[in-house]
Amino acid sequence: ENEMSVSKWRQDFSVFQQRPDWAYFDSAASCQVPEQVLEGMLNYQREQHANVHRGSYQQSQHATALYESWRVRVAGFIGTSADQLIFTRGTTESMNLLADSLARPRVGKGDNIVISLAEHHANWLPWERVCREAGAELRVVPLNEDGTIADVEPFLDERTRVLSVTHASNVLGVINPVADICALARSRGILSVVDAAQSAAHINLDVTQIDCDALAFSAHKIYGPTGIGALFIKSDVLQDMPPWQVGGGMVDMVYENDVSYLQGVSRFEAGTPNLIGAAGFAAAVEYLQQARNAGSTAYLNQLFNDLLAVVERYDWLQMLPHSNGRIPVLSVHSDKVHPRDLAMLLDESGIAARAGRHCAQPLINALTEEGCLRFSLGLYSQRDDILRLAAGLDNAADLLL
Ligand code: PMP
Repeated sequence: ENEMSVSKWRQDFSVFQQRPDWAYFDSAASCQVPEQVLEGMLNYQREQHANVHRGSYQQSQHATALYESWRVRVAGFIGTSADQLIFTRGTTESMNLLADSLARPRVGKGDNIVISLAEHHANWLPWERVCREAGAELRVVPLNEDGTIADVEPFLDERTRVLSVTHASNVLGVINPVADICALARSRGILSVVDAAQSAAHINLDVTQIDCDALAFSAHKIYGPTGIGALFIKSDVLQDMPPWQVGGGMVDMVYENDVSYLQGVSRFEAGTPNLIGAAGFAAAVEYLQQARNAGSTAYLNQLFNDLLAVVERYDWLQMLPHSNGRIPVLSVHSDKVHPRDLAMLLDESGIAARAGRHCAQPLINALTEEGCLRFSLGLYSQRDDILRLAAGLDNAADLLL
């Protein structure tokens, strides 16, 4: 077997030692977690845990220093510094925080917020709610034929307060030119937000180069644990934002009739943080960085081309629109087979793929009647998975067509 047929990372994931033949095609929903990340989490929890920020004893100070070092590492992963990096519960929570604390104070009757048809519900519903409650308009930019976001310019005007778009579609895999889109917003004085939930695993993120005001992603889509994500906010924007959740850890002084909040990122982290999650997040960032240094991007591109070539063989499967610039995510639908039936049949052959509307109902409704079936790759994916899929699709054709 040549170098491109076997994953050098698969051995790091225990689940594939339990199920060596399992073909996991759902990394875009959640990645499996490697031993290195689990170890980082357990090391912290076993021996180094204490609540942060409050203790005067050494173990608490040590835990605080660790937590802040994880913030530095996750910030570095997207090319920024710790003073602009908030830990949240994930991309969904990040977008809710931004909608409530960034948008709500700025958006009034007759204003508008601009998103695209490609958005995940996490980057749709928080803005939709703010607009509805404020009497503002939510403007949805359509897509080009190749699935990229159409020109946003005609949708921007002097009443546009925020623009929020996805870097890569979780359904189409298509990568959008977010730096250009954000530059256009900036030139009009409009705040720009990027949903990097899907791109973080596959594209080297640099918020300085993208030059957005905010960007969000989730640890569980980059080989880390669930329940934690990161939200970058430019410091001058962050400074003016009111707190979101309130409670311990984010206040300066509390009196019976007065309160003052902390400045900076602490203002947005009320309560005891997800410490074990942050440990895993930092370990995941390091793991992914090492994989990239060892050639994972080229490996996944090659494998994705193999996947495309296999899927193209089945004329009863139609691919959803896609551009050439894409992450290894591919969705298909069929006039002949319901995606859920196909997914269940594939599962019987040890193939995990996701059927449905992928939390992007407006997009799916514009493209297909019944949802679609999505295949996505991760570091543990390998040539055998794709051969298994081809056999599974052959079998499905025999049974269903
Ligand atoms: N945006 C996109 C593009 C996504 O793919 C996802 C996850 N499916 C989210 C946002 C939401 O992320 P989370 O569920 O981690 O909050």
